[in-house]
Amino acid sequence: MQAVNGPGFESERKWMVQTQLIPRGISDKLVLDAFRKVPRHMFVPDAFADSAHNDYPLPIGGGQTISQPYMVALMTECLGLKGGEKVLEIGTGSGYQMAILAEIAGEVYSVERLQELADAAGRHLEALGYKNCFIKVGDGTLGWEEKAPYDGIVVTAGAPKIPPSLVRQLKEGGRLVIPVDCGFGQVLTIVERHGPSFKTNEVCGCVFVPLIGKEGWPENSS
Ligand code: SAH
Repeated sequence: MQAVNGPGFESERKWMVQTQLIPRGISDKLVLDAFRKVPRHMFVPDAFADSAHNDYPLPIGGGQTISQPYMVALMTECLGLKGGEKVLEIGTGSGYQMAILAEIAGEVYSVERLQELADAAGRHLEALGYKNCFIKVGDGTLGWEEKAPYDGIVVTAGAPKIPPSLVRQLKEGGRLVIPVDCGFGQVLTIVERHGPSFKTNEVCGCVFVPLIGKEGWPENSS
């Protein structure tokens, strides 16, 4: 667990957990505690600080969004973390999901394709004192090979199909949580690696910005 010292908005965070997460079935104590602790308002543009805890995504620049609190919680819970793991996130965006993961996991790696977002996220995480977060700019559909294998990988952008590189970088029994296009929308999917093959579980429909890259959508789809 990491020290977080962002003052203010405690009651908003409590309200967010009580009204948006628990009633919808988020029950993992590690996840709920992380949501009570991480100062979400510090990851959104100043103009949106007062609405940071509301039940919807918000713009963060570069045409990208910070996901709705419930979706961040659901994806984190789907990873099934117990504490201390090595986790990879694809799509750093604001850095908020990373901070939530950093409260639970041992090391969190994240890949973002837009330099300006990676820089801002890095600054916010550093200001909050996280020492276990590592960001690189690049095409996250290829993962972060040098740091593999991972206990869990979470992709916070919608993919056309499951990127094989990400499955390859999972540990045995490790989980990839990813929104995948099914032809009429995106489905949040859990992929669990078992030897050379994997089994998939569909969780629910979802809406994410496109995952753009070699094993994602082509460049002009943003
Ligand atoms: N996890 C973020 C939300 C990210 S929105 C948060 O907590 O705020 C999705 C992000 O994925 C965007 O920032 C977008 O630039 C990024 N993205 C899209 N395709 C990518 C790729 N191939 N590799 C890395 N990042 C990608």
